Amino acid sequence: MIAELISVGTELLLGNTVNTNAAFLAEKCALLGLSIYYQTTVGDNEERLAETIQTAFKRSDVVILSGGLGPTKDDLTKEVTAKVMGMPLKEDKHTRERIEAYFKNSRSKTVTENNWKQALVPEGSKVVDNKNGTAPGLIMEKNGKVAILLPGPPNELIPMFNNDIFPYLNSIQPETIYSAMVKICGLGESLVETQIADLIEKQTNPTIAPYAKVGEVHLRVTAKAKDEKEAKKMVKPVVKELKERFGKNVYAAEENVTLEDTVIGLLKEKELTLTTVESCTGGLLAARLTKVPGVSEVFKQGLITYSNKAKRKLLDVKKSTLKEYGAISDKTAKEMAKNGAFITGADICVSITGIAGPDEVEEKPVGLVYIGCCYKNEVTVKEYHFNGERNKIREWAAVNALILLRECILEK
Ligand code: ATP
Ligand code: MG
Repeated sequence: MIAELISVGTELLLGNTVNTNAAFLAEKCALLGLSIYYQTTVGDNEERLAETIQTAFKRSDVVILSGGLGPTKDDLTKEVTAKVMGMPLKEDKHTRERIEAYFKNSRSKTVTENNWKQALVPEGSKVVDNKNGTAPGLIMEKNGKVAILLPGPPNELIPMFNNDIFPYLNSIQPETIYSAMVKICGLGESLVETQIADLIEKQTNPTIAPYAKVGEVHLRVTAKAKDEKEAKKMVKPVVKELKERFGKNVYAAEENVTLEDTVIGLLKEKELTLTTVESCTGGLLAARLTKVPGVSEVFKQGLITYSNKAKRKLLDVKKSTLKEYGAISDKTAKEMAKNGAFITGADICVSITGIAGPDEVEEKPVGLVYIGCCYKNEVTVKEYHFNGERNKIREWAAVNALILLRECILEK
């Protein structure tokens, strides 16, 4: 089945709003196994919107529109779609009551006259309640074509799509789709792709789609079949094959497990406590770790020792080390990790020191980062050269600290 997206709003055309809805919807459609060949952005203009919808119906089965469902005059999506599809508008009693209730419960209790416009729905359409706003979503079916209308604000669109539209689209799809995610860390995207080039080349069903993230590559394996059980069965051997090929670099085979989840899980499993000591990342590593619920069981403390003075005072890094090798050196990373573990009484301490830029430090290049990991008194230090601007370098450093930490736990 072919789907197509139309994002409505002059603010999108002008670049005032970033079109995150399109990215969200496209990703979900891919998950559902819908093919998307076109995405269009069109302003709040009746004629051009009508033309865009007509064109979309000529080449797609399902047209998903977002935005322009609000109460104001420039919100035209429903009116124009209804006209194009020949489904006149009629007041929906249920929606009127829901809007009344919505205003009764909200802080702004005055309903303005134009709000009732949102209770008008195309005759014969399915109304999808909006739990976070007034404009309902709409599913309009006619002559084998479907239009889906969604409110523009992402906090309304996303839950509505997940709760109601996703299951609907899944139900009208003749095939069911099932996908699994294999998450890989510590290998670059091109290396991963090269190692599965043969699989990608001969793939039809299931398919393997790689997604490059900072420091990680995710491989989505998707199968289409007549039911979920069948699709799952097709995905299983491919996931097994990928796990075999990438071995220890696979940290998870589940969609919503993150690298930090895995690392914290390992620490808990082995009953190890952790301290982080960071310089150029300024707490990014600690921030990622503390995103995980229940981290307090294993995470002792995180220090940000940005200046040389702080490295000396809080971590007892030797003056001579800083003088001879500099703050950005394997020696400093080593002392930071070792002393950090000792001073805080943790089983493991991870240290990060590097140059995020834009200027060189100690006559060393931007992107040079040392990461240390002290585990049971033994310190591993690795040298990295990251590319990109300041915040990218910091992000790369934090993720590689997680990767090194994971390696140390697994290997020792
Ligand atoms: P409202 O009832 O708020 O008017 P609406 O359905 O009419 O909702 P729009 O008026 O088109 O939607 O957009 C409302 C707000 O939603 C925009 O100001 C913008 O912040 C956000 N928005 C709209 N479209 C998108 C989009 N494609 N991606 C991200 N945000 C969007
Ligand atoms: Mg609006």
